[in-house]
Order: sequence, then structure tokens, then C-alpha cells
Amino acid sequence: MTGRFAEGARVGVLTTEPLGRVLDYRAPEGGCDPGDYVVVPLGPRRVMGVVWGPGEGGFDAAKLRGIERVLDAAPMREEMRLFLARAADYTLTPLPAMLRLASRAPGLGEPPAVRRVYRASGHEPARLTEPRQRVLDALAAYGGAPVTLAELSAEAGVTSSVVKGLVKAGAILEEEAPRDLPYPPLDPGAAPVRLEGDQVAAAEALVAAVAADSYSTTLLKGVTGSGKTEVYLEAVAECLRRGRQALVLLPEIALTSEFLARVEARFGARPAEWHSGVTATERRRLWRMVSEGQAQFVAGARSALFLPFRDLGLVVVDEEHDTSYKQEEGALYNARDMAVLRASICGCPAVLASATPSLESWVNAAQGRYARLDLGARFGAAELPEMHAIDLRPEKLPANRWISEALARSVEARIARGEQSLLFLNRRGYAPVTICRACGHQIGCDHCDARMVEHRFQKRLVCHQCGATKPMPEACPSCGVEGRMAPVGPGVERLAEEVADRFPQARVAVLSSDLFGSARALKEQIAAIAEGGADIIIGTQIVAKGHNFPLLTLVGVIDADLGLQGSDLRAAERTFQLVRQVAGRAGRSAGRRGVALVQTCQPEHPVIRAILGGDEEAFWRAEAEERRVAGMPPYGRLAGIILSSPDVAQVFETGAELARADGPLRRIGAQVFGPAPAPIARVRGRHRVRLLVKAGKGAPLQAALAEWIAQVKLPAALRLAVDIDPQSFL
Ligand code: ADP
Ligand code: ZN
Repeated sequence: MTGRFAEGARVGVLTTEPLGRVLDYRAPEGGCDPGDYVVVPLGPRRVMGVVWGPGEGGFDAAKLRGIERVLDAAPMREEMRLFLARAADYTLTPLPAMLRLASRAPGLGEPPAVRRVYRASGHEPARLTEPRQRVLDALAAYGGAPVTLAELSAEAGVTSSVVKGLVKAGAILEEEAPRDLPYPPLDPGAAPVRLEGDQVAAAEALVAAVAADSYSTTLLKGVTGSGKTEVYLEAVAECLRRGRQALVLLPEIALTSEFLARVEARFGARPAEWHSGVTATERRRLWRMVSEGQAQFVAGARSALFLPFRDLGLVVVDEEHDTSYKQEEGALYNARDMAVLRASICGCPAVLASATPSLESWVNAAQGRYARLDLGARFGAAELPEMHAIDLRPEKLPANRWISEALARSVEARIARGEQSLLFLNRRGYAPVTICRACGHQIGCDHCDARMVEHRFQKRLVCHQCGATKPMPEACPSCGVEGRMAPVGPGVERLAEEVADRFPQARVAVLSSDLFGSARALKEQIAAIAEGGADIIIGTQIVAKGHNFPLLTLVGVIDADLGLQGSDLRAAERTFQLVRQVAGRAGRSAGRRGVALVQTCQPEHPVIRAILGGDEEAFWRAEAEERRVAGMPPYGRLAGIILSSPDVAQVFETGAELARADGPLRRIGAQVFGPAPAPIARVRGRHRVRLLVKAGKGAPLQAALAEWIAQVKLPAALRLAVDIDPQSFL
């Protein structure tokens, strides 16, 4: 711990600029503290930085420039600096990139000020035009929170004069408000829930962990609907009682308000939300309030881990196995692991909740590094769905049909009873492949080695790698024959056609992330479905997460084999998690037993049998044993190196050079594989090559990787990314 720096003292400042090191400056008039957010000159520019510690020296004192000003923001706490430094070391991410994650506060450092905000007055205007209605709807969607003029007119898609008109008409109030208001306090005892069965002991254990005021990690495992959320909210309540802050990470927080509503029902107010769908004003407010201890409870996406909590007392990672916790661009970190790191530095408990934990967490619990709590049954009378396989081989479905007779009959029975069915297919768009019937040519992306996916809804072909789109050509780009381009295979949009054809009387809803203009539109659709707004739901993996559809009693998995293709290390684990998770959507409310029908061409495959058999522990044991024998994670360590460049020869040469210079890796007993073209060998016009480094569990992998990479001079056009504990091998 370093004390205050007097005026003129030499201090080290970390900026968000990609410089690779902390720079020395002179402390400003009045001095500064470690952790202060400051503005410093850098060349001709002014940039933001954080006072990281004492200066390094070495740099000519006469040439040292001064810190220009200290920003009006709570200094970054020492534990946060430590967290960023450790996270940077672990993921081999440059520290400035980590600092960027931690200072994503729009207008950070602007003095507190007032601003003009708008909210509904509750009076209907005399004249209610369509644009005016949109403004009122937008205000309602903000749930009474005041918004700025710019936010409101953007959200409603109207000009600011429409809003001003509503102010004149008395339907909207215009007020001056301090920029950042504290969040309404939560009352841990507002509406307590009576826990039952296993829930009681589990909640007691978590409450004790919070009360212990020290680091621990607990895996909270229980089938969907067993009450994991209720149980960890007990730990949140304890944290609130102690006046400390709680953070819950949720994978799809932007898509559902169910969690927020539940918290409100229980604690009398909503948690503060942090995710990409939150307005800049609100993000600024949250960042500031969290740093001042005026936001007690934050529910957020993975980046909420980097918020400046003043007194973090609990971190929960819900659906801890979820793949979206791994950030796959920029700083490649896994939010689940970083949550555990943050908790260990703050000295507070971490809780990892899941029905189908990641193998890593399962093994950590089995080996005693994590505590483990199990919730056995579903809450109340709700039962787990029955699961059956439908063997597709004897079905001989015609080329453009994917719903078997048995599944169709089950869907019909649900429609007759007024219940819902969910058909799960993890493929966005209309068809994954477009082929020319004349010459066999398949339409690919011009910038990537990937096929274009037809999206009929958008009337375009879309590359799922880079997002490039083009219209569907009339004539084959290869042979020029017209009118012979044809879709092959199903996506959710095409499945919807089959459904419309077979169940013409049914109301059908397709849930796929690309079909909605905004997270809010998708969120509304999910809420409408939950209230019975559809008979058949067709969805990609976004339906697997957290949503509660009380009328849903049938889940049909269209193609359980999809995820098992390919040689991904985690194919079995992922398929198991996804299919069990989707199946768990069925029959969550009492009185309606759910059924899950799993269509497959390989019903005897061990993973499919494990999914159906329900002996989860046996599945994890077998999977863990396979990894152990192979020395694969979590029994060994992997790092992926991805080289990319517009110049194909250059990537291979650099890759080969790295592979030859493997001394530092060999010294820690690690092996390097490759270079090999990445499975997607070209993305956005850049050729991609992968190397894979495999090391023993205890090996000092990061240090060896850093030393290894530093040996090779990288050409300017070449990018190198290191992915520690890779989840995806594309
Ligand atoms: P999970 O997080 O394991 O999927 P939830 O906590 O969402 O389970 O619980 C499933 C449903 O059962 C929710 O609607 C929840 O409110 C309800 N529930 C669970 N436990 C209780 C309880 N002890 N008292 C009242 N309702 C409960
Ligand atoms: Zn592309």
C-alpha cells in the first residue's frame, strides 16, 4: 500500500493507450493518490489514465510532464488494480486493455451536474397520434426511470419536437435532476420466501459463507426449477443485511426482465442493471453509484465484473457453464474464472449456479477446491420432464422435412389441450447451405472460408463469421445457370415453414437473435409467449436460457446430433448441457408434467444415452476420466495461438517460426502443435493459422508463453492472439 503522492513526486500512470507499460509523470498541484483517475498529456494528446503507483525512475526528471488534472471520480481501489493486473497476467492481455474494461463509464470524470430528464405524468394527451403513442410506450418500457431527450426520441424513433409537444400537452414532465441518483435501497426482509427441502440447508450454507467474510467458491447444482435462484437470493439478502454489495452475473440479462421482477417482488426494488442494452446515462450513473456504495445489488452481463464496487460482498455466476461467459474478441477472458479471481482478491464468496455445470467446476468441486451444494428435486409439485429419443433412421423423412411423426403427434396433442410446444434447432436463418443444382457450387463468403447462410426474413445471404451479406443471386456465380439455386438443410426459419404447413391452425413464434431489431423487442416477444401468445415456439439456443414458459409442456429437439459433429474437445459436454437445459424448459409449473423428445440418428451414442438416462454424475465421471487420460483440461492446460494476416505465406511462416522456437515451452514440459490452418481458415479477408500449446496442470504456462512469443519478430500486418483455456477452436 502506497500513500499519497506530494506535488511534483514521480508517479506511474497506466493509460488506456496500447503502450505496454506504465509511464512516469509528475504529481499535480495538490498531489494525488494511488488509484486516482487522471488526465495526462501523451504526445500532442490528452488521455485518461490511473495513478498506478510510484514512478519507475529511469526517465530524465527534467523532461517529466505533469499530470494535468485529477478527475472527479472515486479512485480505483487497490483490489481492483490487483484484479486487473492478475487478470492481465492470466489471460496475457496487455494491462491497458484491461483498464479499458474497467473504465467504461461514459463521461467519467465530468463534474456532477444536473440534466434535463423526462418521465410520464400519467395524463393522456388530448390528441394521441401514433408517434406520440410510441413515445409513451418507450417511457413505459423504461419502467418509470427518467430519460434524456436524446435517449427518448431515439428509442421511440421520433424527432425531439414530438417529445416537446407531449411536454406542452402535459403528458410528460420535464425536470432538472442531478445527473446520477443513488439507486433505491433494497430491503432484504421485504418479502421473504419460505424455503423447502434441500433449499434450506443450501441457503444456510451460502448465508454462512457470506457471514464468514472471506473467500470461498461454492458450486450450486440443481435441475432447472429446483430453486437455485431463490437460494442464492438468500445469500444476496445476507449481503444486503451486512451493508455490502452483491453482484449477480446472468448470461442473457438483456433479454429477460423476469429476474429483475423477481428481485423487486422479494426485496422491494430492482437491482441496477449493467449490459449492452443499458443507456449511456444509466451506465454512467451505475458506474459512479457502484463506486460510492450507492448501488447495493447489480445484475449484469460479464463486463459487470469490471465495475468499481466499493465493498463487494458476494459474486454469483448464474448458468456458470454458459458459453457466452467467454469473451471471444479483444481481451479473451472467461467471466466465470474472473469472477472467482475477483472474489478471491476481495475476500468474499463466489457462487457458481447451474443445472449442468462446466466440467471444470464439477472437477473443482469433486477435488474439494470448491464446496458443492445440491438441490435434488424441482420446487413444489413441478416434476422433471420425461425424456425419450426418437430414432430418425427408420423415419425416412423426405428431404425438406425434419419433424418426425411421433413428434408431430405430440405437438398436435398439446395444441388440442391449449399447451405450448417448443421446437429447438440451434441454427439461425433459413438454410445453412445454398447450392446450385446445375453445377453443385455452394455459395461462400467473399471474405471468409465459410458458407453463406440464407436468411429469408432479411432476404439476404449472411456470413455467420463476419456478418457480410449479399442478395440471393438469380444465377449461379460459378456456372451462370439461372433459377437453380436451392437451399439445403434446415434453419429455424425453414423449420417454421414446415410447422406452418403441418399445423396450419397453430400460432407460431420464432425466437432467434437475428429476427429482432433490438433486445427490447425480443424481450417483449418472450414475455408475450410466456403469457400464452403462441402454441408452437421455434427457437435457437437463446430459448435454452432462464426463460420461464408456464404453459410449455413439450420440448422437441430437432437434431440432437448437430453439436456432436466435429472434433471439439467440449462437443460432448456442450451437447449434454444444451439439450438438458432445453429439455428443462418443459413442465416447470405444477400440475403439468413435461415431455422432451430428442430426435437423433444415433440413439446409442453415449452422450445421447447420458442425456436421456439422466445419470448426470456418471456422465461427468466418464467425461472427466477421458480428459484425465488425455491430459486435457481441467487436468492439463491449453492455450490457443491464432495468427492472422492478409498475407497467407506470412502467417504460415510466422507460425512455423514459432513452432521451431519452442525452447521456452519445452523447458516447462509443454508441447506445441501446429501451425495448422484454423477450421475457418479465412475471416474478413485475413488468413488464419492456429497453434495449440498443451501443458501440465501445474506448469507456469503464461510466463513460458510470453517468453516464447517475445522471441519472434512479428510482421506489422500480422495479428497474434493468445487464448488461454480456449473454449472454441475455430
Ligand atoms: P432455478 O433457478 O433452479 O431454475 P428457481 O429459483 O427459478 O429455480 O425456481 C423455480 C420456480 O419455483 C420459480 O418460479 C420460483 O419462484 C419457485 N420457487 C422455488 N423455490 C421456492 C420456494 N421455496 N417458495 C416459493 N417459490 C419457490
Ligand atoms: Zn464472411
